[in-house]
Amino acid sequence: MNANMRKEPVSVKERNSFKKLLIEIPKAEIHLHLEGIASVDTIWNLIQKYGLKIEGVQSKSDLKKKYYIKNLDEFISLYINVIQDSFKEIEDLDELFHDAGKYLNRNNIVYSEIFFAPSRFLLNGFSFKNLIQKLTEGSNILKKQYHTDTRFIIDVSRSFGIDNAMRNCNLTLKYLTDYIVGIGLGGPERHGPAKDYKKVFEKAVKNKLHVVAHAGEDVGPESIWDAIKYLNVERIGHGISAILDNELIQHLADQQIPLEVCPTSNLFTRRYATSYEDHPIKTFYEKGVNVTLNSDDPALFGVDLVDEYLHLLDHGVFSMSQLLKILKNTIYATFLSKKKKDDLWAQAEKIITANGFTVDR
Ligand SMILES: [Zn+2]
Repeated sequence: MNANMRKEPVSVKERNSFKKLLIEIPKAEIHLHLEGIASVDTIWNLIQKYGLKIEGVQSKSDLKKKYYIKNLDEFISLYINVIQDSFKEIEDLDELFHDAGKYLNRNNIVYSEIFFAPSRFLLNGFSFKNLIQKLTEGSNILKKQYHTDTRFIIDVSRSFGIDNAMRNCNLTLKYLTDYIVGIGLGGPERHGPAKDYKKVFEKAVKNKLHVVAHAGEDVGPESIWDAIKYLNVERIGHGISAILDNELIQHLADQQIPLEVCPTSNLFTRRYATSYEDHPIKTFYEKGVNVTLNSDDPALFGVDLVDEYLHLLDHGVFSMSQLLKILKNTIYATFLSKKKKDDLWAQAEKIITANGFTVDR
């Protein structure tokens, strides 16, 4: 570790003014799942509306307890079998956009790229066309009522196999709107190596969709190499197992492939990080990797984006100026045009300078 990376302790006063600054700065978030913003209230209302029987859930507080997951498999089961399965009619999704609006608003996230995973909804009888139409309506709700711009990334998913992923890609292309920027690969990494999805991603790239993949969240560095080599991804979701492979860290730094890091989420799944202090993000940053900061599933992990920044400050992982550099990285890792990124960063930088803060490097 480089000596000048050591952090001076931050006083309560400094922390408070940094928190105020963080809220004031217009921010971007690029790794966020729509269903992961579903509040306990929203899901509980749906459970009651349809009289759904969920094992171990008799009350809202039982449901709240279910949100405390211990590993990625438990998480995916909660996500698919409880949350996604609670939606029975297309109108049920409306409440999700209000949950999203409140979350984005209180964090002053003015631009986000949100994952939406259609597979389970399709199996439950929803039509892809209606879902995409709902995403457009949702973006409009978010813009008009919550003053935030949203684009979606369709998670073609590892959960239901390769043919299903290809079908999702084809449907995305068929019903493409200005609100869809690309496809992603989520779901259980251990059961779906990235290379199996090569053809799906080739098709997406050929049709000018942006491509990203969750990799190195639950599986070692080979999963990240696969996502880079076979899927040509532009960003990596998590990527934290890269900590085990120096050559990969160097490659990520050289190529400036952004990592969508979500520290609190990683502490829940406990694969390659067990505390904020030992989270690989610190080493990645020191080695010049392009790291961004995100919340993944804020309602499930009980974390706001602003909290993610503060956790890394409070645990002495980064200085305030380093965190502001990560905030800048996140804006520049979006799929916005260069002009829009520059404009957004100019607004952010003005506020940072006016408040007497600096940005690392
Ligand atoms: Zn994720």
